[in-house]
Amino acid sequence: MAMNKCSKCGSRNIDPGQLYSAGAVAYKSDKHRLIFNSNCRAYACLDCGYVETYVDPEYRERIRKLPPRA
Ligand SMILES: [Zn+2]
Repeated sequence: MAMNKCSKCGSRNIDPGQLYSAGAVAYKSDKHRLIFNSNCRAYACLDCGYVETYVDPEYRERIRKLPPRA
């Protein structure tokens, strides 16, 4: 999944990237304990600055296969 059009201003001037803090910012499910690499893709609108993020499909599939949290 990717952002091709800004959902805030309608621009198609979109830049793909990642969000970082001290290291990579990653979505972490409560079902998982350790994530070493970023598992999110970020898309920034170069016109209004809005950033949208998506969790990678591989990680979403891993989450689906985990048992429910007790
Ligand atoms: Zn925008």
